[in-house]
Amino acid sequence: MKAITLTAGGLHFHPSHDGPTAAAGETLVHVLKAGICETDLQLARGYMGFSGIPGHEFVGIAQSGDMAGQRVVGEINCSCRSCETCRAGRPTHCPNRTVIGIDRHDGAFAESVAVPQQNLHSIPDHVSDDQAVFVEPLAAAFQILEQISIQSSDRIAILGDGRLGYLSAQVLSQVSDQVTVFGKHGVKLLRFGHRGITTVQIPSSDPHELPAKSFDIVVDCSGSTTGLPMALHMVRPRGTVVMKTTVGGNHQLALSAVVIDEIKIVGSRCGPFEKAIQSLASGNINVDGLITDRFTLDRYGEAFQAADNANSFKVVFEIG
Ligand SMILES: [Zn+2]
Ligand SMILES: [Zn+2]
Repeated sequence: MKAITLTAGGLHFHPSHDGPTAAAGETLVHVLKAGICETDLQLARGYMGFSGIPGHEFVGIAQSGDMAGQRVVGEINCSCRSCETCRAGRPTHCPNRTVIGIDRHDGAFAESVAVPQQNLHSIPDHVSDDQAVFVEPLAAAFQILEQISIQSSDRIAILGDGRLGYLSAQVLSQVSDQVTVFGKHGVKLLRFGHRGITTVQIPSSDPHELPAKSFDIVVDCSGSTTGLPMALHMVRPRGTVVMKTTVGGNHQLALSAVVIDEIKIVGSRCGPFEKAIQSLASGNINVDGLITDRFTLDRYGEAFQAADNANSFKVVFEIG
């Protein structure tokens, strides 16, 4: 099959790579489309030391099992379902897990990917492939609502005008009418404006140019180590900072404000697929027009470059 692999030597395209074999309980999925996300860019820079086929945002057609022939998306944590953590209801934190396209499990930048049957969700007919490819990152945005309770009067700041910032802004706008997005790129911020979301363009990542202690909740979707210092500067005493991006680099910052201002910091990662699928099916969340670039797998170099470019939004591989 056609596939992109990542090794210490970088990304490569293989016109005839061995297809995956489905382990017990796994289903092969014929990949139709797969999206590039910030994590893929970080992986390509060496984050997590991943080697194999990357890609964890995908829609495809199940080739076997209960859902054979159906269009599906897949949760990315492959958990053992038998350890203490899994039995306690925290399978995404299973210590025995692998993660599709991120940690010891080949991903979806290929014509076929092996996915645990229990991770699959079918996609309603009226949700398009272009919409379904957003389910995984959208579920991650919905995870914020699973973790903290938000009042409609809460002032929420979102740092970052990229893909995750956009999906988080739409999700949080459903519960608060005071969502403001802070970002550096005028082109990207326009997209938020089109959805009626308030935006502020900032000239730099210097926290002191931002309003101090003015938000009940600050969500860092900046994808950069500069996000957390900004968030800690902007959150009010006893407010909450949600860390939404995995950053390969190390933070260097003074944390005394966290104690003095009694700030709650919440790490946030994968979320509920069903809620993401329902919100797309009902039209509550709109992802139309977000795919700015489409490539075949052999053009991976241009694709990864586009995903890193401020003028692009979502970059997708057209596979099946
Ligand atoms: Zn991702
Ligand atoms: Zn487990």
